Amino acid sequence: MKAAVVTVGDEILIGQIVDTNSAYIAKAFDKIGIGVYEMLSISDERQHILQTLAFLQNRVDVVVITGGLGPTKDDVTKTTLCEYFDDHLVRNEAVEAHVVELIEKALKRTASQINKDQALVPSKAKVLHNAFGTAPGMWLKRGDTIFISLPGVPYEMKGLIDNEVVPRLVAEFERPYIIHKTIMTYGQGESIVAERIAEWENNLPEHIKLAYLPSPGKVRLRLSTRGTDEAFLRNGIEVEAAKLNDIIGDIIVGFDEDETMEVVLGRLLAQKGKTLAAAESCTGGKIAQMITSVPGSSAYFMGSAVTYATDSKVNILKVEQQLIDVFSVVSAKVAESMAVNAKKLYKSDYAVSTTGNAGPAKGDAAAEVGTVYIGIATPNGVTSHKFELGQPREKVVARAAEKALELIYQ
Ligand code: ATP
Ligand code: MG
Repeated sequence: MKAAVVTVGDEILIGQIVDTNSAYIAKAFDKIGIGVYEMLSISDERQHILQTLAFLQNRVDVVVITGGLGPTKDDVTKTTLCEYFDDHLVRNEAVEAHVVELIEKALKRTASQINKDQALVPSKAKVLHNAFGTAPGMWLKRGDTIFISLPGVPYEMKGLIDNEVVPRLVAEFERPYIIHKTIMTYGQGESIVAERIAEWENNLPEHIKLAYLPSPGKVRLRLSTRGTDEAFLRNGIEVEAAKLNDIIGDIIVGFDEDETMEVVLGRLLAQKGKTLAAAESCTGGKIAQMITSVPGSSAYFMGSAVTYATDSKVNILKVEQQLIDVFSVVSAKVAESMAVNAKKLYKSDYAVSTTGNAGPAKGDAAAEVGTVYIGIATPNGVTSHKFELGQPREKVVARAAEKALELIYQ
């Protein structure tokens, strides 16, 4: 089963909005064993839409098109579909009733003619119910290809994919099983991880594929396989994941996409009944943001003092001015003092701190661009670690926050 996703909209092509619809559809299709082979973004222009439909017909089994179904003049997908399918628009009573009801309920006014015209659909189309909006989805077939047209508004599109499109495709086609397993590693870069697992990778069975998904400070490894014998596939993936654990168990935090460092760390703290606090300078609250992105983090996270200016390190965290004068604000001593004082301030068991120069300019800081100190205060004392995280700024901040979590985890 091959699919393509086409997103229609000039606003995507000028970079005004980012196409998130394609990713959502690809994920939903992947779960049911339909592979998305291409994603195209095209303009709201009749000629481009026609060319794209012709290009994809018989090339893939399913084409999903999002966008351009609104009642305004710039939305031309519906009339263009009509043209491509050599069809004409007819009024669909059920859709019209739904439109009238939606408008009256939500907007407390009567539906206008423009609203009601959302109920005009190509006569050959099967209508897909849009619970969250006025533009219905449409299902058409030409040659060997199914064309599914959906509204561009993400929550409307999602409702249609989940409630209408996926169930129909599942009913219509026999699909192979696709199984993925994601192994979350931390602390080592892609090339080092690749080197460590090279021999294992070379001996992977033919049907199992490995992908590297690196991001600052961590690498996700995704094993995937597809075929007809589910038990065989699952077993194959589990066997390989176990072998990986033997080789790089020291840097694996979990075996699931959701097993991020903040989740794993949170679970560990909760299990031990320990609490954590932070004092952040160059990470500007990112550590707090990561930790609190996990539901239930209030059980172990006390808070973070974002002491960005040197004065607030002194006034709020009570770092001694003398330490700053002697060692500079970006130094091991200051990182340690920040961690110790945050631990006191928040009455936590552990505290982590960051102070560094994220760049891009060296400024009047004594530290080189990319230099970050991370302090860790524990019930047994305080330590600090120096990192050279390079550039750009976003990467320094992201990696410093990742490193901070790793250091507490260890
Ligand atoms: P409407 O009836 O609201 O006009 P529509 O089907 O005509 O819906 P568009 O006009 O193409 O859809 O898009 C409506 C809004 O949905 C856009 O302004 C944009 O914010 C969002 N949107 C459209 N396409 C995408 C996409 N591919 N990814 C993310 N958001 C999108
Ligand atoms: Mg529109």
